[in-house]
Amino acid sequence: MQRLLLIGTGGTIAATATDARRLTDYQVTQGIEAMLAAIPGAGTLADIRCEQPFNVDSRALHTTQVLQLARRVQQAVRQADVDGVVITHGTDSLEETAFLLHLVTDSPKPIVLVGAMRPASAPSADGPLNLINALLVARDPASMGRGVMIVMNDGILAARQAAKGHTTRVDAFGGDGLGMLGAVCDGRVHYAQRPNPRTVPAFHLTGLRSLPAVDIISDYQDAPVHPYQAAIQAGTRGIVVAGMGNGSLSIAAERGCAQAIRRGLICVRASRVPRGAVTPKDSDAETGLLAAHDLNPLQARIALRLALAHGLDHAAIGSLLQEL
Ligand code: ASP
Repeated sequence: MQRLLLIGTGGTIAATATDARRLTDYQVTQGIEAMLAAIPGAGTLADIRCEQPFNVDSRALHTTQVLQLARRVQQAVRQADVDGVVITHGTDSLEETAFLLHLVTDSPKPIVLVGAMRPASAPSADGPLNLINALLVARDPASMGRGVMIVMNDGILAARQAAKGHTTRVDAFGGDGLGMLGAVCDGRVHYAQRPNPRTVPAFHLTGLRSLPAVDIISDYQDAPVHPYQAAIQAGTRGIVVAGMGNGSLSIAAERGCAQAIRRGLICVRASRVPRGAVTPKDSDAETGLLAAHDLNPLQARIALRLALAHGLDHAAIGSLLQEL
């Protein structure tokens, strides 16, 4: 029998409302052991050990907590008595934790994140089946070497490509359409593709208790320059601009980034458009801006934070964003 570590961190999957018809106003109330015990048949899918480092709404997560979780996952996948890890997590920032885990782990063992769009008290709550599916994926030998994955709504997504794309529906996760690795259907795991083999080594977390500050600034018509000035003043180390189209910047964003770059900040051109990459352009060499390539603004921010924490310089960060 496969030995799985099930880490509960909170979110809607662990939440209940006072009225069953309430789908948005709810509190995190369930511990991971109780949640598992309440789902018929889930506890016997594998030899499951539960851990609960915290139990919170994912909008409230601090970097220190995410690093604590990441360190535990790094450690767990190195243990001979752990065949896979499942993490229950709020969906609001699930893709951020998943992408960070993608950057800091390189084990072939499955690491699966799962959440729910409806609280456990709702009619048609999606959490129980999502959790069953996540356990099925984590215990399946075919899941080896597929990286960090997100299991939601019967789909298996690569953390590298996944993003939340709907505010309330159970099919909220999809990303750019490239991230679907497979599906779980009637208790069976089916894979359609493998993620690309990683070329960038995993970042180690030894000694890291926090990460350097990197801000995301949205760009739009007639944008102001003051968010850039505020970021510089706050001591932020990097700025990711959620720019227009293929990472085009408004005049204020160009000016704000120029000021930031002169003061030694790293500025990345990403896009507010949910699908497609931001391609490098010749003028980047003059402006010092870096293209986010196919990282969305959230992913570019996480990659930049880790890169800065490891002392990578402008050129090395530019290559990293391209290779990830
Ligand atoms: N507010 C919840 C959270 O992210 C939303 C969810 O889990 O769907 O923790």
